[in-house]
Amino acid sequence: MKKILILLILGLLITPITVFGQKKAKISNTKKSVITSVESKSDKLIEMSDQIWSFEETAFHETKSAAVLADYAESQGFTVERGVAGMPTAFVASYGSGKPIIGIMGEFDALPGLSQNTVPEKSPLNEGGAGHGCGHNMYGVASLGAAVTIKELIESGEIQGTVRFYGTPAEEKYFGKLWMVREGLFDDLDACLDWHPSAETKAAVQSSLALVDFIVEFYGQAAHASGDPWNGRSASDGLELYTTGINYLREHVKPTVRIHYHIQRGGDVVNVVPDYSRIWTRVRDTRREGMDAVWKQVERIAEGASLMANVDYKISLVSGVHEIVVNRTGGAALQKNLEYLGEITYTDEEIAFAKGIQKATGKEEIGMDTKINPMEETLEHPGGGSTDVGDVSWVVPVVRLSATVAAKDTPWHSWAVVACGGMSIGHKGMIYASKALSMTMLDLFEDEKLLEGVKKEFIERKGDYIYKGMIDGPPPIDGRWDH
Ligand SMILES: [Zn+2]
Repeated sequence: MKKILILLILGLLITPITVFGQKKAKISNTKKSVITSVESKSDKLIEMSDQIWSFEETAFHETKSAAVLADYAESQGFTVERGVAGMPTAFVASYGSGKPIIGIMGEFDALPGLSQNTVPEKSPLNEGGAGHGCGHNMYGVASLGAAVTIKELIESGEIQGTVRFYGTPAEEKYFGKLWMVREGLFDDLDACLDWHPSAETKAAVQSSLALVDFIVEFYGQAAHASGDPWNGRSASDGLELYTTGINYLREHVKPTVRIHYHIQRGGDVVNVVPDYSRIWTRVRDTRREGMDAVWKQVERIAEGASLMANVDYKISLVSGVHEIVVNRTGGAALQKNLEYLGEITYTDEEIAFAKGIQKATGKEEIGMDTKINPMEETLEHPGGGSTDVGDVSWVVPVVRLSATVAAKDTPWHSWAVVACGGMSIGHKGMIYASKALSMTMLDLFEDEKLLEGVKKEFIERKGDYIYKGMIDGPPPIDGRWDH
């Protein structure tokens, strides 16, 4: 009986929202002004996004893209420190003083080989060029737009504290945030936000995979491949035995583990026994600990391969990232703002464009996913990719958003994302993200209890793990591992 009564009360509580529809929560005038403020700068934001989209600069080469963002921040009164943590394209832009200090991150690097025009079929803009297949042209701009919006409120005295934008390079290859974390650039923050372009809109409350990247080099002895092969020791034999070992290992790792490799060098010509080979290896798992064990085993395989091929070998750590420490308290605040903003609406032309993308990529032609997803359960094993946001999330609570900038089911890291990211579907998602991020930043500035809750959850989830970044030495800006 009691149960029925509770259900009845619950039903009554839920009814006005679900049955009688879109009953919007009330928001403060300040929050309303934040939305208008983002709208008022949308032309400028779109212009910058399109510029960065057309620069299509890859990891550590994002000179023009970083400058577009840093210059804009400067023009808006931010103090900008460029070239931080040993990376010419990393920068931090600050405005205001005192606490709280709320940060927001922005990426801007493109992916090699994905150049694409703004048309719904594969059509490179520059043959063989790079493209924003992860939407980072929008990522940096929307975040900076939010930082500038918050700055205006600090300037007018409506809120107190410091807002900081982090221009974080090379996410796609070297994970630039790692060096910024090592430099302590996030240490004094109370909370940090970020978002990621996506094909759906939601508070992002799933973790990511920890990973480690390392290079294995084999060194042999060159000789004529036919004339005197007995004088040769093949570095490529070492490499092949190594990958064979890895592929046997696959059967004996947990389903959450991923191992990938990219053969960078395997000899230069067929009639020479190769004396040098090189392979980039990546190991991932849901948690750092699980990844560590497989990493060690893969390194043993390299040693075994070198013994079998009678060659020398060398292992060099490139970098590694941690899994994300989720923050549901911040996620819930963000969720409310998404629900207030409601769905993005699209024109018939945009829906037709999305369907064109789906047709070209063999997906069901259903257009855009407009719904605001309810907040998900945080899964033990989320799957998906990895990000250096993970490392930031071990030193400061990070609140995250996914916002729709591409057709539903779009293959990620593909030409299809580049296409949407350079036209109005991407623009709309970017402006939407900027609004949701500004609103949530405002919450963190205004609502002390919320900020305390965010921090409390951060401490609880971290537990007693002592964070240590998986890098040694300076960032590889010299391109030594590029090819
Ligand atoms: Zn990305």
